[in-house]
Amino acid sequence: MKSLVASVLCLFLFAIGQAQSTLKPPTESAMDRFLRYVKIDTQSQEDQTTTPSTRKQLNLANLLAKELTALGAQNVRVSEFGIVYAMVQGNLPDNSKVPVVGFIAHMDTSPAVSGENVNAIIHLNYQGGNIVLPKDPSLVITPAKNPELKGMIGDDIITADGTTLLGSDDKAGVAEIMTMIDTLRQNPQLKHGNIAIAFTPDEEVGTGIEKFDVNGFGAKVAYTVDGGELGEISDETWSARTATVTFQGKSTHPGSAKGIMVNAMYALGDYLGRFPKDMLPETTEKRVGFVHPYAGVADVEQSNVKILLRDFDLSGLNAKEKMLRDMVAQTAAKFPDVKITIEVKENYQNMKEVLKNYPDLVNNAMEAAKRAGLKPFMKPIRGGTDGARLTFRNLPTPNLFTGGSNFHGKLEFNSRRGLEKSTETLINLVQIFAEKS
Ligand SMILES: [Zn+2]
Repeated sequence: MKSLVASVLCLFLFAIGQAQSTLKPPTESAMDRFLRYVKIDTQSQEDQTTTPSTRKQLNLANLLAKELTALGAQNVRVSEFGIVYAMVQGNLPDNSKVPVVGFIAHMDTSPAVSGENVNAIIHLNYQGGNIVLPKDPSLVITPAKNPELKGMIGDDIITADGTTLLGSDDKAGVAEIMTMIDTLRQNPQLKHGNIAIAFTPDEEVGTGIEKFDVNGFGAKVAYTVDGGELGEISDETWSARTATVTFQGKSTHPGSAKGIMVNAMYALGDYLGRFPKDMLPETTEKRVGFVHPYAGVADVEQSNVKILLRDFDLSGLNAKEKMLRDMVAQTAAKFPDVKITIEVKENYQNMKEVLKNYPDLVNNAMEAAKRAGLKPFMKPIRGGTDGARLTFRNLPTPNLFTGGSNFHGKLEFNSRRGLEKSTETLINLVQIFAEKS
């Protein structure tokens, strides 16, 4: 009896060991890989006519292509637009039984803050409290503003030195995908189908994904790996429109303007005064949408204002558009001599409208995160994603966490555990797709 208990216990421990600690490590850790990639300046630039918007993004693209080839990926190529594509061959008896899953991360960093000469600082064994960036002590990462720090005691936190952003957005995603491939290659006992890989330029300026070759990519479903704190999964983005309201007046020499001049600026001012204070970006959060006058021209002859409309629900977006049109009617009644027109354009839709038909995508990601010991949670994105655009081009693509925080600024950070647990989640995820097929 005693020996039976012992051998059952033995088997049990063996099973746990198999699942968790008998994995051969990758040839390079997620951390080391990440620290290499952030040194390469890949800042993109607004208002360029070419893709990629900056040639330097190709430095990382070409390096990744070389490394993908070395890791055994097939059909590795860099497109004329600087998009890196590759296919990691499955190791199942019949790979065609498992849907090809894609993973996408972007190589560029935000135009908002320099990404040149990034000097990553590793704050070993974080013990709580503020993190001061050495080259600019006025820059402090605080638990008050970043509550996720409370769960990071004992972790090694990675920041920039205070002169640049870190580039975790989205080189963390790039490093995690690469480390997944590396780990799978070291551990053929981990069973998975074919995996499509893409690294894209110009996500931060919104133009790279237009050049994405969905058919050539070859995935049935995909994930962008471009999210925030550990466990955060997103299958919702805004539905977005832009309105332009134009106020046509009549300009003339002010010395002889009596009874002739119609100054469009007063109508513009009246219109702006009608925006409800509780429906603006500065007064809303979470799932509440907004209207946002963000640019305009004030002139006697013609004034205009451009307005963002954002809502997670189409009905809410329609209501906001109606409100803007009603406001036009009210201003027009007060300024009968000013001709007011409104034009509304569709920008993008909430990807949930499509992703609700693919519940396995989110369910598998939740399961993968749980197996990595994380508590997954859903977070709607108050913005758009490349994945949202792809979702409406027949490639359903929710977004997964990378472990990073404070994107697009000098206070950006990630951590060793953030990189490792995100990678582990990706490794679990490809196995879950294989198990379920
Ligand atoms: Zn990003």
